[in-house]
Amino acid sequence: MKHTCPYCGEKTFSPLQKALCGGMSSSGKNCPSCGGRCVNGKLSLLVNSLLRGAALIMILYTYFTYTSVSQIFWFGVVPLLIAFAAGFLFDMFFGKLIEAIKRE
Ligand SMILES: [Zn+2]
Repeated sequence: MKHTCPYCGEKTFSPLQKALCGGMSSSGKNCPSCGGRCVNGKLSLLVNSLLRGAALIMILYTYFTYTSVSQIFWFGVVPLLIAFAAGFLFDMFFGKLIEAIKRE
């Protein structure tokens, strides 16, 4: 399963390569076929913001309510790792690549 480049229309990005392209604010990665720079589109941005937002709320909540140090780990560190991992996996398999807007 490969992802389509928005410039040349070829299926040139593997799931891992696509995830490494980063979000709309990153500089992206070049297509191996045409050299166009690609980033993950709006859906990726939305999903990643939601995941990180949820993790952040959980961290803040834990910060003010924790009663033991292990709670900080389980509700403060783990959700953040999950949010990043889930966002990365989402980029690997879902969403579309778009043309990078940001100039290098
Ligand atoms: Zn291309």
